[in-house]
Amino acid sequence: MELKNCKKCGRLHNGTGKICSECLKKEEEKFNLVKSYLKEYPDSSLIKVSDETGVTVAEIERFLREGRLQVTTGMSDFLKCMKCGSPITTGRYCPECEKKVMNDVKTVYRSVVSANNDDGNKKGGPKMHTKFGERK
Ligand SMILES: [Zn+2]
Ligand SMILES: [Zn+2]
Repeated sequence: MELKNCKKCGRLHNGTGKICSECLKKEEEKFNLVKSYLKEYPDSSLIKVSDETGVTVAEIERFLREGRLQVTTGMSDFLKCMKCGSPITTGRYCPECEKKVMNDVKTVYRSVVSANNDDGNKKGGPKMHTKFGERK
């Protein structure tokens, strides 16, 4: 059996995750607390939610970024796309940037393959097939 240090409290544990079962349980409790609070008071601001539940803003943000929680009306523009800054409800990027990020991953892969080909052509954008009236 393998013992590891819990990332949160530093105690030795033999669980499968990065944190011990004790911390995991606390984490779940916090998550559920925030979740049920938001369900009941969706208009609450983030600060209020944090105050009422005792869960820090940073922790709530983490839940949001992990996509486990959704932004409610009271904190509507708290979460911003990490790329373009437009308000989002969950995760890290807006749907637009999400697509771009996915593309970037492919692009990076390709540019690694085809090495340093160009610099000035970056903003040209992908080929756009604008075939209007193609629908039948
Ligand atoms: Zn722990
Ligand atoms: Zn974006």
